[in-house]
Amino acid sequence: DSIANQIAAGEVVQRPASVVKELLENSIDAGARNINLIVREGGKGLIQVIDDGVGMSETDARLCFERHATSKIREAADLFNIRTMGFRGEALASIAAVAEVELRTRRAVDEVGTEVNISASELVNQQPVACSIGTQIAVKNLFFNVPARRKFLKSDSVELKHIITEFQRVALAYPEVAFSLSHNGSELYRLPASGLKQRIIGLFGKTINQHLVDCSTQTSIVNIGGYIGKPEGAKKTAGEQFFFVNGRFMKNPFLHKAVLNAYNRLLPPDTYPSYFIYFDIDPQSIDVNIHPTKTEIKFEDERMIWQILHAAVRESLGKFSVVPPI
Ligand code: ADP
Ligand code: MG
Repeated sequence: DSIANQIAAGEVVQRPASVVKELLENSIDAGARNINLIVREGGKGLIQVIDDGVGMSETDARLCFERHATSKIREAADLFNIRTMGFRGEALASIAAVAEVELRTRRAVDEVGTEVNISASELVNQQPVACSIGTQIAVKNLFFNVPARRKFLKSDSVELKHIITEFQRVALAYPEVAFSLSHNGSELYRLPASGLKQRIIGLFGKTINQHLVDCSTQTSIVNIGGYIGKPEGAKKTAGEQFFFVNGRFMKNPFLHKAVLNAYNRLLPPDTYPSYFIYFDIDPQSIDVNIHPTKTEIKFEDERMIWQILHAAVRESLGKFSVVPPI
């Protein structure tokens, strides 16, 4: 079974950043208002997430490492009505199969918390522990038992970059939640709970502020909100393009083209405009279930969304553009 666990883990855990994504999403699902991410050696040494969410009971603290132990989907119908980030109950089992995991958790109703230590899917130790309300998970020595995968990891700085990308996505999806990130003891981000604009500035620096323009529209199919960057703020490198659907980061080349197409000739050649665009849509009309790592999302009516988005971006650009729209 430990082999089966390792194979399944390959789906979910490709690199330290995959662990970061799953742990941060679990903290969000647990209703945390404060989430601290502590990383060492590009996540190869340590990935620790400390949250002040609802915590787990003594039983759940052990069961959460069993495959398909999700508390989030109770019946098949829920699959079409997903509002939580996680729903497969695979992440913790997969992570625990390829690392040493230390969990400490406590609910508000419990006087004492629970500590669970797991190494390569094996329960090493479980005991009561004094801890604050919420959950702390430390993932140490990722892939220590799968040398081939361990060897495949890139340098600490490359792995850290991937971690930062995941951190940014979750931090942008939930500006009302406070986050911090530290690497090898130095703090890279401290983001207080705030509005979206403040969160964008916290992540990308003050200068981005002068280039941000509101982008929003309400229709019967979808509500769109967020900010797009003015053409003159466009950068030579991509990296500040973000779509979110119902609080979940989404990659979508088709809709990316809708945005670029709306800028059309306003952009200097070979530059990329920043955008932070949030879709709020009936969960029944999307499918988040097409890939285990869940960055792709299928819309029921993608062409219609394309047009609504395109029109919204055009309108925002028209608000300040000196070049008349073509
Ligand atoms: P999923 O998120 O798909 O349900 P996971 O393997 O990520 O699956 O987590 C398994 C279960 O462990 C969750 O459904 C939840 O009940 C519990 N859990 C995990 N992380 C936390 C956390 N930070 N706070 C509270 N409960 C958690
Ligand atoms: Mg999860």
